[in-house]
Amino acid sequence: MPVAKSQTANAKPPIIWLNVAVFSFTFLIAVLGLPLYLYFYDLDIATWIAFIVATGYCGMSITAGYHRLWSHRAYETKGWIRFIYAIGGAFAIQNSALHWSSDHRIHHRFVDENDKDPYSAKKGFWYSHIGWMLREYQAHRYNDYKNVSDLQRDPIVMWQHRNYLALVLITNFGLPLLFGLINGNIIGSLLLIGFVRLVISHHVTFFINSLAHMWGSQPYSDENTAKDNPIVALLTYGEGYHNFHHAFQYDYRNAIKWWQFDPTKWFIRSLNFMGLAKNLKRIPEAKIAKAIAAQQLNKTKNKLMQLSLPNKEELIEKLQSEYDSLVLKMNDYYQVKKDWLESTKDQLMEKAERSKINQRYEEFRFNLSRQQEIWSNLIHQYA
Ligand SMILES: [Zn+2]
Ligand SMILES: [Zn+2]
Repeated sequence: MPVAKSQTANAKPPIIWLNVAVFSFTFLIAVLGLPLYLYFYDLDIATWIAFIVATGYCGMSITAGYHRLWSHRAYETKGWIRFIYAIGGAFAIQNSALHWSSDHRIHHRFVDENDKDPYSAKKGFWYSHIGWMLREYQAHRYNDYKNVSDLQRDPIVMWQHRNYLALVLITNFGLPLLFGLINGNIIGSLLLIGFVRLVISHHVTFFINSLAHMWGSQPYSDENTAKDNPIVALLTYGEGYHNFHHAFQYDYRNAIKWWQFDPTKWFIRSLNFMGLAKNLKRIPEAKIAKAIAAQQLNKTKNKLMQLSLPNKEELIEKLQSEYDSLVLKMNDYYQVKKDWLESTKDQLMEKAERSKINQRYEEFRFNLSRQQEIWSNLIHQYA
């Protein structure tokens, strides 16, 4: 008996025509409609400013709201801010926060496992960027929200989930229309704030699943494909530091150096400063420093293995012993740093005790920096 194509093992799941239509239609309107419109008409500065604000609003609702708040619980914030995120997430048309977070938690748990990770980068750029949404790949678990039971207790998440479609239509047509009416340019507003803003905010988020798993460095871990990339971070409100993020997913930061571009982190910290966010989670400095050193050890060991040096074994042994010594010095330093920080807060501490801690702190800091220099010279020889 002939077997229907859809029953064969290799058959692709059916196409989701609604998604294909939405992605293609909005993309075509944005890339063809905008240049055409600008050829014949001018767009006033107010529409451009509103477009930038709306694009930023959608982007940050996803990164600070859907991602760091709801998917990872990296901090807590007030109900009215969660409400603003929920509206922005619907405006960005990226599914409800509940569904998005459920997908994202699966992505972290089974990252790169092609049959489980919903947007596995191992299935290629197109699949991880947009392809995963164009066919019924996930149909078997569309309504399975077991991994987000905590979010089901958030009334704003559930309200947005129930009213998602209405919110999508109201925000995507209503807001640009309202602005166009007030500003006196309905077509220009629908085009720029409606379509172009949506297409940009879509692809910017999609880059986190595609580019941020393909292009960049791996300073913290090479257990999965996630990469750190400052250019991707520029496009994605700081989410391009994705190697750090996959290594330490509960940290509210994706970039940890002050000079790295992570506006989502700056925004969350500002909320905290204003008393609107609390319990910002940070991975301890010592844990991060040790992850970097372990990754350097692995990379250098692998490089040495590939070289045809007569004293290879000896070099690897030396590398390992300097690494062990580095870790010991890190342990000493971060322990005494903790004592030192506590001593600065303790008003009642005796002067002699305080100066003893200070002295130990300076001593261990010096020891660690000397060992770090030795370590860095050693690994750079084989970089
Ligand atoms: Zn990822
Ligand atoms: Zn994440």
